[in-house]
Amino acid sequence: MNAIRIGAAVSLGVLALAALVAWPFLGPVWALALLAGGLLLLGAHHLRNLDRLASWMREPLGAPVPHGSGAWEHVFSGLNRRARKAMRQREELSAALERFRTAGQAMPDGVVILNRQNQIEWMNATAGGHLGLDSRVDIGSPIMNLVRQPDFVIHLESGHYAEPLMLHTSRRPGTALALQIIQFGDGQKLVLTRDVTQIERLETMRRDFVANVSHELKTPLTVVSGFIETLADSLRDLTPAEAENYLRLAHEQAERMRRLIDDLLTLSALETGAPPPADERVDVRTLLAEVAEEAKALSGGRHALSVDIDGDAALLGSAQELRSAFSNLASNAVRYTPAGGAIRLSWRADAGGGLLTVEDNGIGIEARHIPRLTERFYRVDRGRSRESGGTGLGLAIVKHVLTRHQTQLVIESELGRGSRFLAHFPSRRVAATEKTTV
Ligand code: ADP
Repeated sequence: MNAIRIGAAVSLGVLALAALVAWPFLGPVWALALLAGGLLLLGAHHLRNLDRLASWMREPLGAPVPHGSGAWEHVFSGLNRRARKAMRQREELSAALERFRTAGQAMPDGVVILNRQNQIEWMNATAGGHLGLDSRVDIGSPIMNLVRQPDFVIHLESGHYAEPLMLHTSRRPGTALALQIIQFGDGQKLVLTRDVTQIERLETMRRDFVANVSHELKTPLTVVSGFIETLADSLRDLTPAEAENYLRLAHEQAERMRRLIDDLLTLSALETGAPPPADERVDVRTLLAEVAEEAKALSGGRHALSVDIDGDAALLGSAQELRSAFSNLASNAVRYTPAGGAIRLSWRADAGGGLLTVEDNGIGIEARHIPRLTERFYRVDRGRSRESGGTGLGLAIVKHVLTRHQTQLVIESELGRGSRFLAHFPSRRVAATEKTTV
């Protein structure tokens, strides 16, 4: 500002001096005319620069500041500096805002910001997907006009947001959302949504599992305690053969409970245990011989059992787990194949690893049951499974063991014709057997 004042004072001083010097030579009229002319020119100069300043102010933000002359040069360069600084601050601010937006978009949870009137101010794409909102058209609209689910409307209007709301939207059947509202600022709200479908499914599975285990244990326990009661009440009236029969039946039920508990412990160990070792060698020939031996004992000579090995190899993994898995498959083959049937255990090494197959020509399985067979306690025929000593956990164990060995279980079956259970081991789980020289 000082520069402008000095500039104006210098201009006026120069004009006044010129008029005074001219006065004795040109006379008063011309000297005053000279002064008036000078003042006019000075006024025009200022008007022109003011005009430039006014037009610049009408330009959009960021337009270059015009150049000025004389004292205005100083004014314009000051403005230029301030405009550049303001632009820089604007850029920094919008970059910070953009970073926040990107972070909000990257969040795995849905985020919606509501103003005092519950109108949507901002949302991320996840929230859009969860609540069926479209950020291109729904910003500014009241959320209650868009998410009309009564549970949600009541919760939003209640003003009590300590507990999250569990929302099952009809728009996405089968999915569950946990919705949490957080108040902030001046009556604004943050709505957070999280997809808890998987957690809810696990919770249902856990509840079903506990109910199933209790039921599976309760049935034999009731039978055993019934037998004990009968024996205690009427031991003297029973013939030794009758008493023996009761004890045998009670023992069968106790065995059933033991098998169930053994299978439960195996499953639990599989779930919590360390991954199977990659350096323990399980010779396929030995493994299948042991499994076949067990199956023969179970069959009691009622089935034709064969083992077929094409290319000796060793599996890399847990011997105990693999034995348990293939014993389950072989015992199923025996239990679900009527007497006179054939059961075959085979191994074929190939370039991609090796294929271990357990097949039978037994009762077979209807296609609709196949995808669910590895679920815990899933049985096609509950009565038949129990009669033959099944726990309903065998295939769950098999699937678990194979998954831990990066191997997929494939089930092929045809009702009335038989079943085939295939385990394709990847090459990293298969090693060539060391040749023993004699
Ligand atoms: P279970 O103890 O009942 O045998 P699993 O988990 O081993 O339980 O098997 C689940 C169900 O799959 C069985 O109840 C049976 O219905 C069916 N299943 C398993 N293996 C065979 C097979 N080889 N042939 C026919 N059905 C089978």
